[in-house]
Amino acid sequence: MSACAQCGAEYADPSQNCEERFDALLALDHSRVQPWGSRHGLAFSTFALQHPEGRTPAQLAACWVMLYRVWIKGDNRAKLAASMRAQQSLTPEEWGVPGLPPVPAAGKKYAVTIADLGGFNAESYPEKLEEWGKATLAMWTPAR
Ligand SMILES: [Zn+2]
Repeated sequence: MSACAQCGAEYADPSQNCEERFDALLALDHSRVQPWGSRHGLAFSTFALQHPEGRTPAQLAACWVMLYRVWIKGDNRAKLAASMRAQQSLTPEEWGVPGLPPVPAAGKKYAVTIADLGGFNAESYPEKLEEWGKATLAMWTPAR
C-alpha cells in the first residue's frame, strides 16, 4: 500500500500514484469527448487544490474560485470557465467568493481522492467529480 503525501490517496499497487491517474484523466479531457472534455477546468482545479505543492497563490486562488462558484454557488461551469479566461486578474473577492484560505496541512486524507475515481467511467464520472470537488472544498473550508 502506498499513500500520496499530499492528498492521502492510497494505492494497493505501488506503481500507481496521483500524477499517473491525473495524466490518464487529462488524456480523456483533451480528447474533448464527453463527459470529460467540458469538465476539464473542474478536474484540473480539484486536482491542483488537493496537490498544492509548487503552485502559486494566484494559481490556487483561480482553482478555489472555480470550485467555490460551481459547487457552492451553483454556477454554470462552462460560462464561468469562459469568463475566468477573459478576466484572469480578478481576486476571489471580485468573483464574490471568500479569499483563498490557508493551504490545509499536507498528508491529511481527503474524504474523496483521485484514487476513488477509478477508471473515470463515463456514466459515473460527473457524479464522482462532484464528490471529489466537494470533498476538496470541505477540507479547505473547515468549520469555524
Ligand atoms: Zn494525491
